[in-house]
Amino acid sequence: MRRRKFLRLKLREASFISRALLSSRHPVLAHLIPMRRCNLACGYCNEYDHSSSPVALDIIKPRIEKLAALGTSIVTISGGEPMMHPQLDEIIHYIRLRGMIAGLISNGYYFTPERIKRLNRAGLEYLQISIDNVYPDEVSRKSLRVLDKKLRYLSEHADFHLNINPVIGGGIKNPNDALTVASRAVELGFSTTVGVIHDNDGTLKPLSEKEKEIFQQVKKLGNKDHARLNWFQDSIAEGKPYNWRCRAGARYLYICEDGLVHWCSQQRGYPGIPLKDYTMEDFDREYNTEKWCAPTCTLQCVHQVGILDNWRDPQKTPAQMAQERKEKEAVGEMVQVE
Ligand code: SF4
Ligand code: SF4
Repeated sequence: MRRRKFLRLKLREASFISRALLSSRHPVLAHLIPMRRCNLACGYCNEYDHSSSPVALDIIKPRIEKLAALGTSIVTISGGEPMMHPQLDEIIHYIRLRGMIAGLISNGYYFTPERIKRLNRAGLEYLQISIDNVYPDEVSRKSLRVLDKKLRYLSEHADFHLNINPVIGGGIKNPNDALTVASRAVELGFSTTVGVIHDNDGTLKPLSEKEKEIFQQVKKLGNKDHARLNWFQDSIAEGKPYNWRCRAGARYLYICEDGLVHWCSQQRGYPGIPLKDYTMEDFDREYNTEKWCAPTCTLQCVHQVGILDNWRDPQKTPAQMAQERKEKEAVGEMVQVE
């Protein structure tokens, strides 16, 4: 990444963090899904199909506009495999035009020098690739041996920040692979984090002793800032619940291919409100609602967003929220009668 662009991105990051600390009433990060289809079929994944069509640009643009209107800081395009979307560059460019930081999560298969240069021109700022193992197997083909050439292309041509995320857990056979992948990422000049992944039903399996040992070694290789933001992973690796406030549905939004807002990729279905109809009332309700799945949640990005507000605004359970709403409605009715 060119130094000037890097410094500009750092300034933009500092500005969105200060803004998020000053006010809790806008989304910090939205994951936008323009493509559910994927070229792979990872054994732990519940986020893909092999048949759906890409969502058309003129349907996606109003979603991006609504995210901008809500004050969203970062929009990360995810999938499925978003690189299969024929208008990905236009989507990225539109996110930038609306003043938001543009990120992308990909399995890495489609990167060629020409494609990388097009992403540079579109204005991509962040890319994350998860690499699961060194050699492909029946669980995952996101493998260093397959992707190494793509990583070299990226190190030569990308004018955006690249993070490589090796993963541990979720049926990945050889935990040592995470160390090999992280070392290669550092060698190529990329940042690296480590993901403790959920099973395909979204639940957490505690790591084995070997996995825990590798997990700590990979963490040491990675970005110290990321390690500081990912304290929760130490508890999760031990199989212990972690106490935090998940702000999904508010500070973090997951927008599926049908344009509905969900808590996250693992809790699709709720609130399930179309983004175009999403109001600050919905935002406030979800911001204040305690999520039953938080103690064992492994989703790094939602945890990181949660840190911004962990120190303020304690949450209530859905039952407490419903009770409060009822009481408010009753008071409202009484006032109207009076
Ligand atoms: S993890 Fe990513 S690459 Fe693998 S099947 Fe799911 S969406 Fe596709
Ligand atoms: S706690 Fe995790 S799984 Fe539950 S809604 Fe939040 S991000 Fe999703």
